[in-house]
Amino acid sequence: MTGKDDGEDPQAWDVATRLIRGGLTRSPYGETAEALYLTQSFVYDTAEGADARFAGDEPGFVYSRYANPTVKMFEDRLALLEGAEACRATASGMAAVYMALMGLLRAGDHMIGAQAMFGSCRWILNNWAPRFGIDSTLAPGADIDAWRAAVKPNTKLLFIESPANPLVEITDIAAVCALAKEIGAKVVVDNVFATPLFQKPLELGADVVVYSATKHIDGQGRVLGGAILGSTALLDEAYRDLLRHTGPALSPFNAWVLLKGLETLDLRVGRQTETAGVLADRIAEHPKVVACRYPGRKDHPQYEIGQRQMTGAGTVIAFDLGSREAAFRFLNALQIVDISNNLGDAKSLATHPTTTTHRSMTEEQRLEIGLTPGWVRLSVGLEGVADLTRDVLRALDAA
Ligand SMILES: *Cc1c(COP(=O)(O)O)cnc(C)c1O
Repeated sequence: MTGKDDGEDPQAWDVATRLIRGGLTRSPYGETAEALYLTQSFVYDTAEGADARFAGDEPGFVYSRYANPTVKMFEDRLALLEGAEACRATASGMAAVYMALMGLLRAGDHMIGAQAMFGSCRWILNNWAPRFGIDSTLAPGADIDAWRAAVKPNTKLLFIESPANPLVEITDIAAVCALAKEIGAKVVVDNVFATPLFQKPLELGADVVVYSATKHIDGQGRVLGGAILGSTALLDEAYRDLLRHTGPALSPFNAWVLLKGLETLDLRVGRQTETAGVLADRIAEHPKVVACRYPGRKDHPQYEIGQRQMTGAGTVIAFDLGSREAAFRFLNALQIVDISNNLGDAKSLATHPTTTTHRSMTEEQRLEIGLTPGWVRLSVGLEGVADLTRDVLRALDAA
């Protein structure tokens, strides 16, 4: 491996430089782009060498379920962007969430999460963790008193998603982290909607940050991926062996795609956020719209908290058209924006959460988070702002 050693401190670099150069390790061939090490295992010059590497006495890779050079470049680049000591990549966002939770919990523990969260996360808390004797309570995310009221003597973990899916509800991360310190619990934050550019949960007191890299980090609709970030000590203690021996490893190919995604993350998310701000205002003032939620608008119920903890409002807008029929008329009238359940993509995507992403929730659970059948979630992409505005306004007229 060759690298430049000119005394530069990557921690001091601008975001843009971190995204292009962070974690870059070159092979002896001196390739410009990051090398794709599509290999399962590694070979050793001697039997003694294999012995030393397995013993951990000599640095180096042994097997791509444990670690891989391309995956490591992705982990190091994302850690540098996040300001985290360490990062472990996973095969998907859900693998990251599941491992992040299960690595910190054991039978008899209790965790608290917000009622509004990504559907599969909610499934883990409600349907899977109880099998292992792990209970949970779901609180209204924006109500810190409700988090406090949900605390039990065995509460060991608080799980936050902010802004949350699908109505971009904002939780006060610093307040939940302060509560966690009081009771000796850990905090895991799913930071997908804010992206590593706009929100720094570790600085707000969180222990672990998780991502679905499938969303903005790829941002071009290609591969699945995920990541867990935090201190080296915590990642080693809670996750090192768990990840090695259960195998949710990120494919080197996907890591390579995600490395190239990171290179343009700030350009894409910056532009998408600018366009989302313009669209949110046009949507909010349309007569067919009952309510519009966007973290950058003053009428967002947790606008003040968002201003405190986020440096950008993000790429997702939610709005209520009053009925499922109106929402469907809107979706069916779109000519540029696609109907899809994904988000963070270069292509603008619109979703009807009640019948797709949040279908498995009961009506009562959906009402708890204010999700009625008129709501639409719009993930704003990279198309021209005039074209998107025309498309969305025309579809709103048709609603
Ligand atoms: C998409 C998403 C996930 C799951 O990520 P996958 O890569 O699809 O497994 C988790 N949390 C949030 C907030 C998401 O948007």
